[in-house]
Amino acid sequence: MRTIPEIKAAEGETRALRRWFHAHPELAFEETETSDLIAKTLKEYGVEVHRGLGRTGVVGVLRVGDGKRSIGLRADMDALPMQELNGFAHRSQYPGKMHACGHDGHMAMLLGAARHLARTRDFDGTIVFIFSPAEENGSGAKVMVDEGIFRQFPVDAVFGLHNWPGLPVNNFGIRPGPILAGCTNFDIRIIGVGAHAAFPHDGKDPILTGSLIVTALQGIITRNKNPMDAAVLSVTQFNGGEARNIVPDTATLAGTIRAFDEKTLDLIESRMQTIVQNISAAHECGAELIIKRYLPTVNTPAETRFAGEVMKSIVNEAKVDADVVPTMGSEDFAYMLQARPGAFAFLGAGDGEHREEGHGPGPCALHNTSYDFNDEILSLGSTYWVELSRRWLARTA
Ligand SMILES: [Zn+2]
Ligand SMILES: [Zn+2]
Repeated sequence: MRTIPEIKAAEGETRALRRWFHAHPELAFEETETSDLIAKTLKEYGVEVHRGLGRTGVVGVLRVGDGKRSIGLRADMDALPMQELNGFAHRSQYPGKMHACGHDGHMAMLLGAARHLARTRDFDGTIVFIFSPAEENGSGAKVMVDEGIFRQFPVDAVFGLHNWPGLPVNNFGIRPGPILAGCTNFDIRIIGVGAHAAFPHDGKDPILTGSLIVTALQGIITRNKNPMDAAVLSVTQFNGGEARNIVPDTATLAGTIRAFDEKTLDLIESRMQTIVQNISAAHECGAELIIKRYLPTVNTPAETRFAGEVMKSIVNEAKVDADVVPTMGSEDFAYMLQARPGAFAFLGAGDGEHREEGHGPGPCALHNTSYDFNDEILSLGSTYWVELSRRWLARTA
């Protein structure tokens, strides 16, 4: 493995940043201490800093030579609303908030790359370091795009990287086309007429109607959608009623749909509308369906190939899965890829063996209360960002 020696030598500093972020987790659009530290650190490194895009977002710009060729590198900043079960020294200091998706590590890896690139300045072009807020909840990347990040800082391509537990350490995963799913979150409100439970014929039962809707929705996945197009629909909330002897007036359902292309989401949403309205009508209830769509993360072929070659030059070719199995998770980086070509990739984080004494009883999985970012991959992540930038800016095509 060809980790850049100066990056490896500065690993202690990068690890200290990572652990500070871990101990001070902040939720979507509240990343104020986080963005203060990022801005301060970038300035110390000699990187030009811009703040305010996406409220708490930070953009660093490093320009050498004519600065004509450009690349965007993105790290996400936010934590999750959960109570950390780890007991080691760098555990969350803020109750009910935790960096359980490794965004602490993503920020540290990108800062490690910025440090090295700002010292060496051995490239010709512009590197834009993008720290985007509210990935988990609020689509901060979309907000930055909508507010004009790529008009203010035009880049030829933009790249993202996520640590991936389960994928072995020092391995990369990438693929052209969809790598993460699109997502439609839905809320269904069924409006019936309440009644005494002993006289249900006097009312219109939203609980029975909701139950039939839950069952019928699964038929979209098994009977309407082409079996070759992957998708999942999960109803995860069903609320209604206060007492055992009352048929309630209303019931609410909520859930999420995941698929890798918008055509499949279109089909599912449209069938869902038909099923919800008609089953409700058949049972003399009213219905409201509210849906919110998020894009799938789709890598562009040329930039994916380019990033894959960079990975292979750093680690053994066998450690790069250039056709990694896509996952049903979702990412707001999708909106950056809608605006610019580029690629999102996975960096193997291993199976949790790295965790320090005092970690929680659960698995080291993303969004788990016992998760901790694997500091062993910090230098490799920074090396990837540096090599990707240098080669991208030096490309002849
Ligand atoms: Zn996450
Ligand atoms: Zn994440």
